[in-house]
Amino acid sequence: MTDIYDGVFVCTGQFGYPHMPSFPGQEKFKGRILHSKQLRTFECFKNERVVVVGIGCSGVDAATETSNVAEQVYLSSRNGAWIFPRLGPFYGLPFDIKDEIQPLFIRVKPPNHVWAQDPVLTDILPSRILSGHIIVKNNIKTFTESGVIFEGETKIIEADTVIMATGYNWKFPFLEEGVLTKDGDCLNLLYKCVYPAQLPHPTLAILGFMLPLGPGFPLGESQCRWATLLMSDKVKLPSSKEMLADVQKRYEINIKRYKKSDRLTTRVDYIEYMDDLTSQFGAKPNLLKIFFTDQKLFWALWLGPSLPYQYRLQGPHKWEGAREAILTYKERMEAPLRKTGHRKTKRKFQGFPLKLLLAFIVFWFWISVLFVVDEM
Ligand SMILES: Cc1cc2nc3c(=O)[nH]c(=O)nc-3n(C[C@H](O)[C@H](O)[C@H](O)COP(=O)(O)OP(=O)(O)OC[C@H]3O[C@@H](n4cnc5c(N)ncnc54)[C@H](O)[C@@H]3O)c2cc1C
Repeated sequence: MTDIYDGVFVCTGQFGYPHMPSFPGQEKFKGRILHSKQLRTFECFKNERVVVVGIGCSGVDAATETSNVAEQVYLSSRNGAWIFPRLGPFYGLPFDIKDEIQPLFIRVKPPNHVWAQDPVLTDILPSRILSGHIIVKNNIKTFTESGVIFEGETKIIEADTVIMATGYNWKFPFLEEGVLTKDGDCLNLLYKCVYPAQLPHPTLAILGFMLPLGPGFPLGESQCRWATLLMSDKVKLPSSKEMLADVQKRYEINIKRYKKSDRLTTRVDYIEYMDDLTSQFGAKPNLLKIFFTDQKLFWALWLGPSLPYQYRLQGPHKWEGAREAILTYKERMEAPLRKTGHRKTKRKFQGFPLKLLLAFIVFWFWISVLFVVDEM
C-alpha cells in the first residue's frame, strides 16, 4: 500500500545501530562481550573483572558505574580524551565548556587539539583512577580465551566481561539511495544538517541528525521549529546551488578541525549553529535592538550562558516568559547546590565595572579563539 503525504520528518535518531569493533582473537574469548547500548543496571558486574573499550561519554559512564561493584575495571583507549569536570572553578557552579577550557586529566594524551573531538564530562573518573578502581590502558591488541592483551604489553589481563563503548553507525534503510548522498567518506548533502540539498522541495527533513559540541536537545527543537515553518510555507529555502555551497563550506571548515569521518558535515558548534538555524526564521535575538531597549536583558545575554530561551524572545513561537526565564536562570541553577534555607552569599565586586571587564575578557577570548582556529 502506498500513502501520499505532504511531508515527512525523519526522527529515527543516530544511536540505533551499535558499532561493534572486531579485535584479533575475539572469537576465542569465553567471557561476555556487550555493547554500551545494552547496559541498564550494573549489579550484574559484581566482583567481575571488566574491560571497557572507548573513552567517550558512554565509556566513562560504563567504567565509573561498573567500578562501584566490579573487582577491577580497565578502561581501554586508542587516543585518550579531553576530560572536563562538571563543576567549574568559580564558586563551584556548573562548568560551561563554551566559556572555559580546563582539561583536568589526560592519561593518554589525545593527538588532536581540544576542539577536534567530543569532550568528556565527568567528576568521577579522576577519583576512581586515583583510587585504583579503574586502570587506564591502551587499545586491545588481542583477545585470549580468558581475557585481553593491551597494546604495548605482553601480560594477559583476565576479564569476565568486555563492554564495547564504541559508538554507533548511522543508517536510514527506508530512504531511497541517493537521498542522503555520501561522497566518499565525508559528505552528507544535508543543508544545515536537515534538508537533502539536492531535492527540489523542502518536504523531507532529517531531524536530530547532527553531532553538536554542546547540548543536542535545543538544537533538535530548533530544527523542528524550522521544519514546520518550511512545511507550512512560512519561510523558504534558498536555491539548491546555494544550499550545496553551504554544505561545502561546512565541510571545508570541519575538515581542518576534525579527523575524517562519514559525519564530518553534521558536526556543529552549539551557539553558532543555534544562531544560524534561528536566523533562518527570525528567532535569533537582535542584540543591538535589545542593547537600546532593555539593558538588563542585554547584559544577561551578553555575559551569561547561552540559554535556549533566548531563541524564544522574538519571531515565531515567541514565549512571553522567555525574558524572565533568562534573568532568573541562576536561581534555578543554584537551587540544587544550596542547602534549603541557606542564604545566598553576596559576591564581592558585583556591578557595572565588573561586567564591562568581563565583557572585555569574553571579547578577547573569542578573538583569540578565532585567531587560533584560523591558524590551524
Ligand atoms: C548514552 C547517551 C547519552 C546521551 N546524553 C545526552 C545528553 O545528555 N544531552 C543531549 O542533548 N543528548 C544526549 N544524547 C543524545 C540523545 O540521544 C539525543 O540528543 C536525543 O535522544 C535525540 O532524540 P531523537 O528523537 O532525535 O532520537 P532518539 O531519542 O534516538 O529517538 C529515535 C526513535 O526512533 C525510533 N526508530 C528508529 N528507526 C525507526 C524506524 N525505522 N521506524 C520507526 N521508528 C524508528 C527509535 O526506536 C527511537 O524511539 C545521548 C545519547 C546517548 C546514546
